[in-house]
Amino acid sequence: EVRVRFAPSPTGALHVGGVRTALYNYLFAKKNKGKFILRIEDTDQTRFVEGAEEYIFESLKWAGINPDEGPNAGGSYGPYRQSERKSIYKEYAQQLLDNGHAYYAFDTSEELDAMRERLKAAKVESLTYNSVTRMQMKNSLTLSEDEVKEKLSAGEPYVIRLKVPRKEEVRLNDMVRGWVMVHSSAIDDKVLMKSDGMPTYHLANVVDDHLMKISNVIRGEEWLPSAPLHVLLYKYLGWEDTMPEFAHLPLLLKPDGNGKLSKRDGDKLGFPVFPITGQFPDKDGKPEKYSGFREAGYLPDAFINFLAFLGWNPGTEQEIFSLSELVESFTIERIGKSGAKFDIEKAKWYNQQYLKAKPTNELVNYISEKVEPDHIQYSNSSLEKICNALKERVEFPQDLWNEAQIFFVKPESYDEKVISKKWNETVVEVLNEYKDKLVEKTDLDSESAKLLLNEVLERQGVKMGMVMQSLRVALTGQGSGPDLMQVIEILGAKESAERIATAIN
Ligand code: GLU
Repeated sequence: EVRVRFAPSPTGALHVGGVRTALYNYLFAKKNKGKFILRIEDTDQTRFVEGAEEYIFESLKWAGINPDEGPNAGGSYGPYRQSERKSIYKEYAQQLLDNGHAYYAFDTSEELDAMRERLKAAKVESLTYNSVTRMQMKNSLTLSEDEVKEKLSAGEPYVIRLKVPRKEEVRLNDMVRGWVMVHSSAIDDKVLMKSDGMPTYHLANVVDDHLMKISNVIRGEEWLPSAPLHVLLYKYLGWEDTMPEFAHLPLLLKPDGNGKLSKRDGDKLGFPVFPITGQFPDKDGKPEKYSGFREAGYLPDAFINFLAFLGWNPGTEQEIFSLSELVESFTIERIGKSGAKFDIEKAKWYNQQYLKAKPTNELVNYISEKVEPDHIQYSNSSLEKICNALKERVEFPQDLWNEAQIFFVKPESYDEKVISKKWNETVVEVLNEYKDKLVEKTDLDSESAKLLLNEVLERQGVKMGMVMQSLRVALTGQGSGPDLMQVIEILGAKESAERIATAIN
């Protein structure tokens, strides 16, 4: 059975990259009639952020990516929060100790600093606690059994480290990248259990993936360097045969392709890089706001469609995919290796497509809820006409209301450019006669409004192009907008005539 998991750490707002990871997991699960599991990886107490877990739940819910198992969804492999599984990790750390694949290390931070200095002098950049350096340190491989016992019973702080072999080729067959080979000398003796008794990400992640029967690990490329270590852990825990298959997803890049999309890019570039708006304390405890796609007016379906294409493509020309169509078409083989540019214009385009495909009565809700008593009031069928007239022109629901202003409030000023260029006596004469004709008209629609205008133009010997923009400005105050005859139909003969009268006086 296919079982996949999304395993975020609740350390703040969930970046869109994380939502994409969740989405690909979800799609893969559903495509293969499997299960999508949400696991909260909250073992790093120093990075715990209040409210971050709820933020994750709400983001996924908004996006429509609903877990089959998880902290809120239940399931028979729980608990699904790592902080509630502490005793489980202890057991497996002990097993690794017993089998000689892990060891206690008692080094103090001063001792580790000293090693760092020594390594620096030898031109080694970062701290590598490995088969070479471990021999100079204070751990159960260098201390006698009695010394170790003594330290443990005295309650001296310790960590448990993985004993990475000196010369071994570690390989894994990544579903996106193919064979990845790493020499074990490039892997250090990672801490598995911290001095606070909590597991590190590596141990908890592998143990849980095994116990939760995860068949495929689909996650961001930033975890690829950890994968060989995880392969070693599977081996030492005796789980090699059921090791999940890995798929590491390409990075999300800045819109210009220069470097990876960061949490800060949203504010810098003026678009959201988070699913929903949230606020979390920064390092100094100051509240920091994260702007979301939801609040910017993106529709969840459009957001999902956009995200799906960041790193995956169906291999056809089709771009619009509902969630179920994505499930139908999704395969890991069609995930790219190279980074995906985060093109916000594309996101807007998707939103526009989904917005205009919405049933008119739904569009009406976006504007009817904003109508105030001092606005011009319309029947429901006129509200529908307003939406139909505007929907081709807008990207966001709030645009719909902004553009609809022309119908609800009379123009307070007139586009200067049009007035100075197009407005003249001939225009005024045409408009004057047109408005008189309009008021006589009962049952006006866009067709008859146009016929009427043509009659006037013909009688006065004026070309349509001479007056159209001025007529628009007279009716709406603006130099551009939706189909003008539609505007007249919606405003109605009386309101249109009144507006023209005001403009020409
Ligand atoms: N907790 C890790 C994260 O925050 C999960 C990585 C993984 O999927 O293995 O991304």
